[in-house]
Amino acid sequence: MTKYTRSGRLQQIPPYLFAEISKKIEQTRKKGVDVISLGIGDPDMPTPKHIIQELERAANDPRNHQYPDYEGMLSFREAVAAWYKRRHNVALDPVSEVLALIGSKEGSLHLSLAFVNPGDYALVPNPCYTPYRTSTILANGIVYDLPLLEANGFLPQLDKIPKDVVKKAKILYLSYPNNPTTAVAEKDFYKEVVDFAKDNSIIVCSDNPYSEIAFDGYRPLSFLEVPGAKDVGVEFNSLSKPYNMTGWRIGMAVGSEELISAMATVKNNVDSGVFNAVQYAAITALLKTPPSHIETLNGVYQTRRDLAFDTLTGVGIQAKKPKATFYMWCKVPGGYTSAGFATHLLEKAGVVVTPGAAYGSYGEGYFRISLTVPDARLAEAMERIKKALK
Ligand SMILES: *Cc1c(COP(=O)(O)O)cnc(C)c1O
Repeated sequence: MTKYTRSGRLQQIPPYLFAEISKKIEQTRKKGVDVISLGIGDPDMPTPKHIIQELERAANDPRNHQYPDYEGMLSFREAVAAWYKRRHNVALDPVSEVLALIGSKEGSLHLSLAFVNPGDYALVPNPCYTPYRTSTILANGIVYDLPLLEANGFLPQLDKIPKDVVKKAKILYLSYPNNPTTAVAEKDFYKEVVDFAKDNSIIVCSDNPYSEIAFDGYRPLSFLEVPGAKDVGVEFNSLSKPYNMTGWRIGMAVGSEELISAMATVKNNVDSGVFNAVQYAAITALLKTPPSHIETLNGVYQTRRDLAFDTLTGVGIQAKKPKATFYMWCKVPGGYTSAGFATHLLEKAGVVVTPGAAYGSYGEGYFRISLTVPDARLAEAMERIKKALK
């Protein structure tokens, strides 16, 4: 029985994908099955020691026990700017072009609340990481789907968007290296995006949390590396994936001063920023982590990727070897829907994969696995899948 009617906004939000998956896992575990979840992208390895030690030090300093600045400490924003300069050769003004986020996930809601009016469109890739879609809905905007098709390298075709939609569009969401498809984007595509955004006064939001998770020598770009990008967009990045810090909740928005300042106004009215001790730890992560950390991390994911690729293609599943991200995006075998196949694997192998349709209708026909489980568990999952699909 419910006493209160939920807002129309909230009623439009589909159930959170991982909440549904968690329920199914729970039910199967209750039956005594040792379920292995390849469903959620959450690094299994610990945060490096030097980062934890800096948190400890900063947490012991009473000056950090008071409210933080909602936009982030200047020293954190300077560290972000230094990191972007070193890693991407992108120059950022730490005062006006960098904003601390409580994890990058919240950024798309700030951007939507800052710029989307009821009836405005947001151009949202399908399939996609769900917050782009849901933050548009929470701002009473309208989601216009951009199909990501394998034939186009999972890049949206901007010239196929109807003129009247382009006119009403406020934000274009992009995310490469892409979750869930693992696709990457190159400079030519980003140049086309900048021209499209300029011509149509559309804000580009490039969500780039996997910029450091890449294999075989591949180095993902930042959208901001393309000339003119900073005039039309923001990029989100995050400490979560490269430093195994998903639980710490710290990320950043960088780019256009005008967009950053509007997002900051929303934030200022919603929360009070990131715990300073976490920001100190993030500074250490960005500035003092030896390059060997990322090399080792990516080495582990690459070995897992190769094992998963060999196993899955060995039982006839079609998949491409990803250049980046810690996912694999695979074709569902003939005769199954993506949800049906995920259920089949849970029942027959006790292995959780994410059905592609959970990321949007164009994800139908695919499933995603995450490589963020310990080596031995992944090996066990692969053995079980092999047996189940024989
Ligand atoms: C993991 C992930 C993020 C990062 O989220 P945080 O809130 O920074 O932990 C953002 N976007 C995508 C597509 C992701 O997969």
